[in-house]
Amino acid sequence: MNPSKTTFAPADRMAALPKQFFASLVKKAVAATAAGRDVINLGQGNPDRPTPGNIVQAMQEGAANPQFHRYSPFTGFAFLKEAIAERYKLDYGVTLNPETQVAILFGGKSGLVEISQIMLNPGDVALVPDPGYPDYWSGVAIAGGRMATMPLTASNGYLPDYGAIAPSDLERAKLLFVNYPNNPTSAMAPAGFYAETVDFAAKHGILAVSDFAYGAIGFDGRRPVSFLETPGAIDVGIEIYTLSKTYNMAGWRVGFALGNEEIVRQIELLQDHFYCSLFGGVQWAAREALLGPQDSVRELVARYESRRDALYEALAGIGWQAEKPAGSFFCWLPVPRGYTSSAFADKLLDEADIVVAPGVGFGEHGEGYVRLGLLTDEERLREAAARIGRLGIF
Ligand code: PLP
Repeated sequence: MNPSKTTFAPADRMAALPKQFFASLVKKAVAATAAGRDVINLGQGNPDRPTPGNIVQAMQEGAANPQFHRYSPFTGFAFLKEAIAERYKLDYGVTLNPETQVAILFGGKSGLVEISQIMLNPGDVALVPDPGYPDYWSGVAIAGGRMATMPLTASNGYLPDYGAIAPSDLERAKLLFVNYPNNPTSAMAPAGFYAETVDFAAKHGILAVSDFAYGAIGFDGRRPVSFLETPGAIDVGIEIYTLSKTYNMAGWRVGFALGNEEIVRQIELLQDHFYCSLFGGVQWAAREALLGPQDSVRELVARYESRRDALYEALAGIGWQAEKPAGSFFCWLPVPRGYTSSAFADKLLDEADIVVAPGVGFGEHGEGYVRLGLLTDEERLREAAARIGRLGIF
């Protein structure tokens, strides 16, 4: 038999995986760059700055330490769990027991997908924001769950309206995802929102998952609030935190699930069956990120804020008016009349060599918007605005 002729039938769960909406855009952008065009890619969420030097140095020490060349403890090193608990105490005033209320993750993404495997039986419902981060959908699909979307619109301040969820969805709901500072809308959670979330989750017996990926990035002096600061939050939920954005460590794959002990235990149990924790050197460097000097975080937020101001000034100059982001490193901009978000994104790539993410890729309620990332320097952001201006659309 010729092995190249063999065909395999993957399990049904593979066919259930959601389509990668942005894959075709990425392909087009790569092709444009390969063809020698000067593409400004504002479509992705990949931090452009290097990891701070003290963290890289700790990694170098960690790599040379034979203690870390062996298997790491299955649930990770205590020093890293203690470091994240310490950081939460300092930054949010939240007290966590590092032994029982902290699980180490291979980046936030893995925890967000794992949580659906832990909570959902086939047919169970997960309440997800629309627009929202597509990895929530992936976990729900793999678990054979069903998604009920909660529209986030400008008129509701990009917050879910728990009162508008259909009773039939509520009946089967086991899981709720919230994400502030928000990707893609850049909204922040106002005071009182998490108290409402805790009440809602407790009343309906739903596990609340706060995706706090942009927890360090608030502008104009506004500090993002952790869900876990709210009384009762630990009884009904967990928070997923990541080092990817706060410390420019997206490639390092370090995240945490924090909060409810029962859920933390289940995450560690599931991970016991898939992995054997992160490389010890990475854990050592992650400890340095959390306990070392935090100046780099303040500098990073200030940098994103001045990029934001530069871009919005330039956009106002070409007549593209929108509210400035409150947090995260994304800009959520309305598309001009007469375009869908995909048609507008295509036009920007084809005619101005600019990549933006069409809002519809984040859900039906993302239609009418495009998302731009503040992940290139001010000069390039101004250049992007100037190119868009030359299209004469606004
Ligand atoms: N959550 C949101 C909203 C994100 O935008 C991202 C990354 O882009 C993540 C979670 C996951 O980040 P990571 O897997 O790098 O920790």
